[in-house]
Amino acid sequence: MIKIKFYTTTSIIYTNSDPHIGFALELIQTDVLARLHRSKGDDVFFLTGTDEHGSKIQKMAGDDPQKFVNDITEKVQELASLLNISNDDFIRTTDTERHIPTTQDIWTLIENNDDFYRKKYQGHYCVGCECFKTDKELNDGVCPIHNKKAELIEEENFFFKLSKYQDKLIQLIESDELKIVPKERKKEILNFIKTGLEDISFSRTRKSLSWGIPVPGNNDQTIYVWCDALTNYLSGIGYTNNKKQFEKYWPADVHVVGKDILRFHAVFWPAMLMSAGLPLPKEIFVHGFITKDGKKMSKSIGNVVDPFEQIKKYSADSIRYFLLNDLPASNDGDFNEEMLINRINANLAGDLGNLVYRVLALTEKNFDGKVPKESKGKLAEIASGLTDRVSKSVEVYDFQGALSEIWKLIKGSNQYINETEPWKIDDKEKLSEIIYELLEALRFIAVTIKPFLPDTSEKIIEQLGLEEEPSFADIKWGQLKEGTQTKKGKILFQKVETE
Ligand SMILES: [Zn+2]
Repeated sequence: MIKIKFYTTTSIIYTNSDPHIGFALELIQTDVLARLHRSKGDDVFFLTGTDEHGSKIQKMAGDDPQKFVNDITEKVQELASLLNISNDDFIRTTDTERHIPTTQDIWTLIENNDDFYRKKYQGHYCVGCECFKTDKELNDGVCPIHNKKAELIEEENFFFKLSKYQDKLIQLIESDELKIVPKERKKEILNFIKTGLEDISFSRTRKSLSWGIPVPGNNDQTIYVWCDALTNYLSGIGYTNNKKQFEKYWPADVHVVGKDILRFHAVFWPAMLMSAGLPLPKEIFVHGFITKDGKKMSKSIGNVVDPFEQIKKYSADSIRYFLLNDLPASNDGDFNEEMLINRINANLAGDLGNLVYRVLALTEKNFDGKVPKESKGKLAEIASGLTDRVSKSVEVYDFQGALSEIWKLIKGSNQYINETEPWKIDDKEKLSEIIYELLEALRFIAVTIKPFLPDTSEKIIEQLGLEEEPSFADIKWGQLKEGTQTKKGKILFQKVETE
């Protein structure tokens, strides 16, 4: 069987401060895509990483920017590990073996395609955004994002002929050859392109930006963020050091990005790739921002949600569940701790944890923990086609929908226990039928829940006494073998006490 390749990425997070909850969301969403495709048997490559150059970091770090970015990158990697993120590689833009040569190579390809010209440039520069702003993007010279007057800077830079690609970009996006999800974002980006694309500055003088990759053959110029950061998607799969792997995985199947950087991914990036003669990514999925109790998170208000603290307090799977289930996947959502606690108590400890505990306890009590004879009834019906439904929901980024499909089986199983009241039944034959159904339902739950709650899935599989992880692609009712020794374990989720 030929495996279908699936290459997915997060954006690379800028290493000017510790990773925030928004990046945790992006990691988790992309992780679900990667894990689901792996479950289906696809050949997956999942890349994440860090964007480590730029004048903002240069200013903050002082003498030793490398040390500064090393420390923050370590935290990003720690966050990914704490959240059980299954990335296959991690690319840093200061990587001298893989990334820097790739960036310089792409630069040269664009140059050879005659898409650069040098121009004296006078522009309004926002230090906060770290970029030049057009008049349209400023209100009376003030950056609306940072509420600060943009500085007037004059430099001679390399300009990229972005305007040349305007019509082609419109055609690609309109036809979904470069698909942008959700539709509102596609519309928004098309509107932006149709107002007219201006050529953009692709380099800075070495004097104004020294913490970056030199323009090949021009030591007085540094490659600006677009060509430096976006090329990570090529360097991270071996553009320079592993051509075979690169050829296998490029183009990307899905880039997952925040709405603030859609323009770079849907306009600059495909234009650069066309210029360099490389295939384009197939799809860009855009998620929203996270607010805290309805307010924008900011250090000055002091309402920034620290993902490390939340994971420590509630476990990675609880945070994964909440972010996937309670925040709209492609729109802004709110982080509300009370709501998170409610979810843990009701859906995780209540529905799921309780079910697993009850079923294993019933098996232990009535059958010495051994799986009884096969049976097929009401729960088999709910479980039928579940993997397909979960898979289809994830394909359209409907993580809530996928979880609610799984929860139908969880709730259906709890209801089945309440209706049949196995503790009142003496007839072994009858009991056997009920308990087999429940155990088999747990196996379906463990398999389908894995992309979302990998740790919990593993625990259920262990408690079911399965030596091998059941196959998502080939799961069928009745594969759970009679006589398998289950191992009742600790409850999966502790209820959170509140005042
Ligand atoms: Zn700004």
